[in-house]
Amino acid sequence: MKRLKLKSNVKKYGIITITSIAVIIFISIGIYSYINIKKQKELENTTEYKLSEIGYSEDDIKVLTKVYKDKELNYFLENKKNDDYIGIISEKHFIKDYFNDYLEYLKEARDTNYALAVEKVNTKTNKEYYTDPEVTDTSKNELMLVNKYYHLPDDYTPELVTIPLAYSFGELGSQKCTQNTYDAYLRLWSEAKEAGFYLMVNSSYRTHQKQEDIYNQYKNVQGTEYADDYAARPGYSEHETGYAINVTMNGYTDKTFKDTDAYPWLKDNAYKYGFILRYPEGKEEITGFDAEAGHLRYVGVEAATYIHENNITFDEYYAYFVK
Ligand SMILES: [Zn+2]
Repeated sequence: MKRLKLKSNVKKYGIITITSIAVIIFISIGIYSYINIKKQKELENTTEYKLSEIGYSEDDIKVLTKVYKDKELNYFLENKKNDDYIGIISEKHFIKDYFNDYLEYLKEARDTNYALAVEKVNTKTNKEYYTDPEVTDTSKNELMLVNKYYHLPDDYTPELVTIPLAYSFGELGSQKCTQNTYDAYLRLWSEAKEAGFYLMVNSSYRTHQKQEDIYNQYKNVQGTEYADDYAARPGYSEHETGYAINVTMNGYTDKTFKDTDAYPWLKDNAYKYGFILRYPEGKEEITGFDAEAGHLRYVGVEAATYIHENNITFDEYYAYFVK
């Protein structure tokens, strides 16, 4: 009897245990599925998921969400996937405001050179020189941009100091620049001298009137096209800012300065003193001017260093960092 009861108890409890385990498993599966469905729903609601549904890869999404946040991403959700979007946005100097201009440029150029599109639009060189002119923001001081799209107000007159004859050609008082340009130039001059080069300023600040005379002289003799390659129209010359100086050495002209050993030295070292070579070789289409070996522009050490290290022009730097 005792044995039998024991046996039936074992059986009874066994069934209860099995039933309990089954119920627990069943509930667990239920909860597990519920959590998963919920998670899935949440995932499907994320912008990342929606972008992947449109066809963007994981890397594409990283590019998009790094630059665009929250509601800004709606544009990409509402439009078909476009490789040009990713190509353009991946560019180092991509500017959000110019997004549509970049796409327009690519369309017109029938090209997928994204770097060029960004460079052209940022610097306005997708447009003809002297079209769409803007008065430059002179409150930027040494970071103001003056080129074939940005001009000075007609009455702009900077505060200037005279460059002594020890460092410049011409009559005393004929070479002038701003105080900070002069201070930086003295430091550059000393280092150049240490390296064996006696730099001399042969062109610096020009008045609006003087620039007009220079431009007209070229224009009257050789025509507008030639004049525009070599000289800026009045109001559009950096020389009117007081932050530009042309340097050369004894026995050399503006044109032959590039044959001196001082020229490669300047290319390598000018940035340390806040100067850039403003019209470098190979960048003529962006700057709008033929290369000018001795034309230095004071922009300060930070800007000069970035421009030097990234091999870009001031026009590009301005679009991305100053404007
Ligand atoms: Zn110059």
